[in-house]
Amino acid sequence: MADFDVDLFVIGAGSGGVRAARIASGHGARVMVAEEYRVGGTCVIRGCVPKKLLVYASRFADEFEDAAGYGWTLGEPKFDWATLIANKDREIARLEAAYSANLERANVTTVKSRAVIEDRHTVRLVASGKTVRAGNILVATGAAPHFGAKIAGLEHVISSNEAFHLRALPKRIVIQGGGYIAVEFAGIFNGLGSEVTLVYRGEQILRGFDNDVREHLAAEMTKRGIKIVCGQTVDAVEKVDHGLDVVLSGRQSCVVDCVMFATGRKPNIVGLGLDKAGVTLAKGAIQVDAFSRTSVPNIYAVGDVTDRINLTPVAIREGHAFADTVFGGQPTKVDHADVPTAVFSEPEVGTIGLTETQAGARFARVDVYKSSFRPMKATLAGRDTRSFFKLIVDSASDRVLGCHIVGPDAGEMIQLVGIAVKMNATKADFDAVMAVHPTAAEELVTLRSKAYSVERPAAE
Ligand code: NDP
Repeated sequence: MADFDVDLFVIGAGSGGVRAARIASGHGARVMVAEEYRVGGTCVIRGCVPKKLLVYASRFADEFEDAAGYGWTLGEPKFDWATLIANKDREIARLEAAYSANLERANVTTVKSRAVIEDRHTVRLVASGKTVRAGNILVATGAAPHFGAKIAGLEHVISSNEAFHLRALPKRIVIQGGGYIAVEFAGIFNGLGSEVTLVYRGEQILRGFDNDVREHLAAEMTKRGIKIVCGQTVDAVEKVDHGLDVVLSGRQSCVVDCVMFATGRKPNIVGLGLDKAGVTLAKGAIQVDAFSRTSVPNIYAVGDVTDRINLTPVAIREGHAFADTVFGGQPTKVDHADVPTAVFSEPEVGTIGLTETQAGARFARVDVYKSSFRPMKATLAGRDTRSFFKLIVDSASDRVLGCHIVGPDAGEMIQLVGIAVKMNATKADFDAVMAVHPTAAEELVTLRSKAYSVERPAAE
C-alpha cells in the first residue's frame, strides 16, 4: 500500500461510510473520507433523526386531547412550526459536529468536497482538483428522492428533503406515495394540524408489508382524518392564486398549499466515474457480492447505493463488515435475513420476518395468531383507536416466522421481538414467558388461540 496516498478512500460520510472509515482506521488503515454536503448523511441530516423529532412534535396533539379524560384542564395549545424547525436544525448541527469529531478522533481525514473516481486507484476531489491515490475505494453515496413520472407542474412538488425546511406548516397538503416516507409524513402533518390527502397508485398503502398491517394502519390513519386515495396518481400540479391545484388521474382535483412526493429513492451514482473504473451496475445500483465488493476487486460499496435493504442500521453493519473484511483480517458477511423495521406512522408499525403471504408460500402449513384491542390509555381518553398484533408460526417446527405490530411503541417492541425471532424462538418459547401486566406487549406471550392456519397450495 506504500505507493498510495491512503489505504482507503471513502466517498460519502453517511451512516455506512462513517462507520467503515472509523473501523478501517482502527484496524490501522490510512483513511480519507470525502463528503460534498454535510457529515452524517441522509439519516442524520434529512432522514431518520429529523423525521423522528417531527414525529415527536406531532404526537403532542393527542397527548393534550387525551389529558382531559385523565382530569387535566389545559389552555388552548398553540404550535409554532418555526420554533420546531429551528430547534430541530440546532440538534442536527450538534449531531453533525459530533460525527465530524468522531472521525477526527479516529484519525480519519475528512475533506469537504465531491469526489469522483478517475480510475480504480485514483479519486479526484472536485473542490480542489487534487487527485488522491487509494489502495481501496468505498462508495457510500446513498440515495436521493426520485419523482418518477414527469408530470406538468413538477417544479412545484417537494420531496422529504424540502419538507424539513418549509417556511410554514402547510394548512393543506397532498402526499403521493404509499411507502415509509409517505405514511410517516402523513402522520406528522396530520398531527401538527394540516389537512392531509395521501395519494397512492396501488390498492393499499405499504406494499410488501403484511396485509393485515396495511389494512389496520389505513383504517387508523383514516380515523385520524387522513384522506387516503388509492388507485390514483397525481397527474398535474398548477400554481393558482391561493395555492396549488392538484389534478388526480381520476380527474378529481383539489387546491392545497403543498404537494410532496415520496415515490421512492434512487442510488446516487450519476457522475461518480464508476464507468471509468469498470464498476458493474444492476438496475441503477452498484452490484456487490456478500462482502460488499464490486466487480472491481479494490472498489467496494455499502448502503443505499447498493439497493439491498435501504435502512440505516443495515448500511452501518455493511460498512463495519467491509472494514473488518478488508482491513481487520476477518472476512465478515452481513446477515440480511429477518431485519426488524419500524414505520413511524401514527400509529406506529413494527415488523420482523415473514408476512402471512410469504410464509404461506414457503411453508407447508403456518398458524396465524392475531389480536386487536383498544389500548388501555385510550379508554379514559375516549380515543377511538385499536392496536394490532400478529404472529406467524410454522406448524411443523413451532418456530415464529414473523411478528407484526401496529400501535404505540411498536418500533420499540419489535426490536426486542427481533432477538427472539433471530434466535429461532418457537411459539412455545414465547408462551413460556410470563406476561408483564398491564402492557400492550404482553399480547406477544398470551396469544393462545389460533386465528386460522394457511396451507401451501399443492404443487401443480
Ligand atoms: P418506498 O419505496 O418505500 O415507497 C415508494 C412509494 O412510492 C411506493 O408506495 C410506490 O408505489 C410509490 N411510487 C413509486 N413510483 C411512483 C410513481 N411513479 N408514481 C406514483 N407512485 C409511485 O420509498 P420511500 O420514498 O417511502 O422510502 C425510501 C426508502 O427509505 C424506504 O424503502 C426505506 O427503506 C427507507 N426509509 C425507512 C424508514 C424507516 O425505517 N422508518 C423511514 C423512511 C425511509 P408501489 O408500492 O406501487 O411501488
